[in-house]
Amino acid sequence: MPHPTTTLVTFPGGATEGGSTVVAAYPLPDGVLGVVTETTPFHPLDHSWPDQPGDTGALEFSAAAGVEGGGARYPVSDCLTGGIGPDGGFELGADIPVRRGDASWAWLAVHLIESAADPEPLVGQAVVLRVDRERRAALCASHTGCHLFALALNEALADRWRRQARTDSFGSPDFDALAMEGSRMDLHASTDRYRIGKSLRKKGFDPDGLREALPDLAARVNARLAGWIAADAQVRIDASGPELTARRRWVCELPEGTASIDCGGTHVPRLGVLASLTTSLSLSEDGTELVAVTVPKRG
Ligand SMILES: [Zn+2]
Repeated sequence: MPHPTTTLVTFPGGATEGGSTVVAAYPLPDGVLGVVTETTPFHPLDHSWPDQPGDTGALEFSAAAGVEGGGARYPVSDCLTGGIGPDGGFELGADIPVRRGDASWAWLAVHLIESAADPEPLVGQAVVLRVDRERRAALCASHTGCHLFALALNEALADRWRRQARTDSFGSPDFDALAMEGSRMDLHASTDRYRIGKSLRKKGFDPDGLREALPDLAARVNARLAGWIAADAQVRIDASGPELTARRRWVCELPEGTASIDCGGTHVPRLGVLASLTTSLSLSEDGTELVAVTVPKRG
């Protein structure tokens, strides 16, 4: 089969289903097939910055020649990022040796299905892709909560900076970006880990008394989050194109102005979808890691 080109994606606009054509299928270990379509509503786990899990759902083939069973519905257990390197070799997820978006690679959303079918006849088949909507909605709530929390935290920590640092959309020193160690969304929360070490101090952050200040910080963050949810601000993703690798930004029209953050994930369409958003903060014993767990409740 010819090598596929970079997958076109509809999840940034909020899509959870759509029809397309299979352009490749790769046999993977344990009887799993990695199916690639021209276009997909599925959000794949990003191998470079694995913050939001891949979507699950189903692929539905119509009764067509060459498809096992002649018309079948395959559950999609996960969706990962795949890549075709300059040498034509296919790599999946953590095995990809370059960062997402490397221009010499083709970048693919790979839908994992369990099937012993011969992959070759699947190529060229029409397929309907359906994302598990309830799971997606939960991940959207966690991811939107993550970005709102980042803005509220930056603001709450602003007076601890002793030197000019890069700022966020609202002009606060961007603690979230400068200290971020890792971010993970799941169905219940977003967990963000920040490194408070030498390099952050060098950049001008003063961690003195942070532990004692945590309850007050959390209270300020949570008050800000409650205010933003009450404002029912609109959320959208701005994209430079339809490709999986296009540059995308989360944009939220908050009362204080338009906030934006680079983002490859999915989000709620407006903050009124959330009933509440609550952050708890904790500091490691040695004071070098701040962990924030932000829990959204949907209305
Ligand atoms: Zn994001």
